[in-house]
Amino acid sequence: MPKETGYDPSLGSKFVFVTGGVMSGLGKGITAASLGRLLSNAGFDVTAVKIDPYLNVDAGTMNPYQHGEVYVLKDGGEVDLDLGNYERFLDEDMTSDHNVTTGKVYQEVIERERAGDYLGKTVQIIPHVTDDIKRRVREAAEGSDVCLVEVGGTVGDIEGMPYLEALRQFSHEQDDDDILFAHVTLVPYSKNGEQKTKPTQHSVKELRSIGLQPDVLVGRNENRLDPDVREKIALFCDVPTEAVFSNPDVADIYHVPLMLEEEGLDEYVMEQFGLEDRALPEDERSTEWRDIVTQDLEGEVDVALVGKYGLEDAYISIHESLKHAGLETGVNVNVEWVDSEKMREHHEERLQEADAIVVPGGFGARGTEGKIEAIRYAREHDVPFLGLCLGFQMAVVEYARNVLGWTDANSTEVDEDTQHPVIDLLPEQYDLEDLGGTMRLGAHDTEIEPGTLAHDLYGADSCTERHRHRYEVNPEYIDELTDDGLTFSGKAGNRMEIVEKADHPFFFGTQFHPEFRSRPTRASPPFVGLVEAALDESDAGTDADTESEVTN
Ligand code: GLN
Repeated sequence: MPKETGYDPSLGSKFVFVTGGVMSGLGKGITAASLGRLLSNAGFDVTAVKIDPYLNVDAGTMNPYQHGEVYVLKDGGEVDLDLGNYERFLDEDMTSDHNVTTGKVYQEVIERERAGDYLGKTVQIIPHVTDDIKRRVREAAEGSDVCLVEVGGTVGDIEGMPYLEALRQFSHEQDDDDILFAHVTLVPYSKNGEQKTKPTQHSVKELRSIGLQPDVLVGRNENRLDPDVREKIALFCDVPTEAVFSNPDVADIYHVPLMLEEEGLDEYVMEQFGLEDRALPEDERSTEWRDIVTQDLEGEVDVALVGKYGLEDAYISIHESLKHAGLETGVNVNVEWVDSEKMREHHEERLQEADAIVVPGGFGARGTEGKIEAIRYAREHDVPFLGLCLGFQMAVVEYARNVLGWTDANSTEVDEDTQHPVIDLLPEQYDLEDLGGTMRLGAHDTEIEPGTLAHDLYGADSCTERHRHRYEVNPEYIDELTDDGLTFSGKAGNRMEIVEKADHPFFFGTQFHPEFRSRPTRASPPFVGLVEAALDESDAGTDADTESEVTN
């Protein structure tokens, strides 16, 4: 008889609290997301909560230089990029409630205090702030079998203290076998090649001093932990040796679930939770992930990403989407950043080498001229091109300038005084004074015109993609822009959502951000289209080379 799987409300959720020690950037988010993937392969409904102990209410105003990309959820939440990893690994859509920040918690507590909800009591971190944290975690977990809760930062950070205290309380309020504390630490090599356990010991000591005893330890090192190192960690940190897992470096983050499965982390967690009986038998578990991420890829295409940030994290979802499109197409995709602010200096060569060009989103004037140059290059040299949000807007500006001859054409975001504001706020938006209020965020529907490239790619009359923008194609210019050149093949009312151009191998721009819905298991259509066109281009290049060799 098939086993009952899926969420059973009478059983409630199990919680895995994931903390990090020794240093940040160890990949505890990827570790947690990978564990989540394995549990979902075993038939469980898994969700995740990312706790960001900073005072910002959300990531909307954060600089991509410091924090990487602002990830956008379907409900319009502007969140930490880790939520993107959870969505990609779990293939589950999250909401803003899955990103708890100190800003959100304090805002709520202070609002309640002003409303008199605390009946004259002194409002304090314990219990008022910690209660609000626990409420948020419980609410986000509702409907899931297992909820992964990742505490950002490193144990011992002052900002993280209220969260760890909340988790300590939480563990007393739940059944013991509903909660597991997993601690991810660095196990560095010493100069003479020994794996050192002292940093892990110290970090666990720090956790224990605030009343938390880890149940599972995950050691990050280039390689697997030596057996005696595992034993030593177990002894000093007071966990069984079987609870110490290695999480060595792998060639690709999508291989982390495979590694952790080999290590047996998923089985151990299920055992601790008493979930083995509800898990699918091993031979019935989904192998989709493994099949996709371990396939052999043939050949490669080079994509130039023309943006202002040199940091991969600033465009992480685009990098991942290109990778997904490569997995779907069976080809390796190399992405090279081209600095949009230095386009004139030496970058034309870099564009020449590329099989495709992507111009990502952005805010403000900086780098826009370089983006326009890159788009011009793509248009004139038949290089497959994908423009995203600001990249879409700049494609319209480029066309207006270089084809229609309106040399000062621009977005009013960049040049308020342009005589040809082809990208502008819509008239109704001008009435809204507060800039923050005019941002169009989250999932919205786009109607797609039959018989267009967009329709071919999406294979449907509409799509729902995520947005994060203020400016729009100015309706006054649409006739001239589309007279003999561009086609707006996707629309939402009077908003232009997709632009494409005939007589070009692939010229495609979207006002929305398809990169936020791309998954390894479900690549995003515009990215697949781009990579396929790039592959045709690079094949054409190879054919031409071979041909000339033959004729010579
Ligand atoms: N700055 C542009 C706008 O607000 C584009 C935004 C983006 O690329 N995310 O409309």
